[in-house]
Amino acid sequence: MSISNTVLPLQIRKTIFEKFNDTNVRFTNDEILELLKSNGLDSAITIDDVEQYFNQLRDAGLIRQIAQNFTTNYYKLFDVVEKMKCTSCNQEVYLGKMEPRVCPNSECKASI
Ligand SMILES: [Zn+2]
Repeated sequence: MSISNTVLPLQIRKTIFEKFNDTNVRFTNDEILELLKSNGLDSAITIDDVEQYFNQLRDAGLIRQIAQNFTTNYYKLFDVVEKMKCTSCNQEVYLGKMEPRVCPNSECKASI
């Protein structure tokens, strides 16, 4: 799980940026997981496996939970997501406008 712990949260951010980057749009953890699987994520990964990452994004102030139906969580963005390049780890990263300017790569965490 060490690779997933680093890469999956970044991929979730990228998916939100590419598909749901609108503060009026509601999206779910299920939709994002399906999009990630259609992009090659291991199909064995379950909604329970990614729950911790959505909780991280919620705690970071990127998304807010607006409803829940069993394991399906409905979210909206607090503010639009911006794509930027971290000059420390050289990765393209995605941060909400209201989030601290800190690289979301858990192995980097440099100021951006
Ligand atoms: Zn970085």
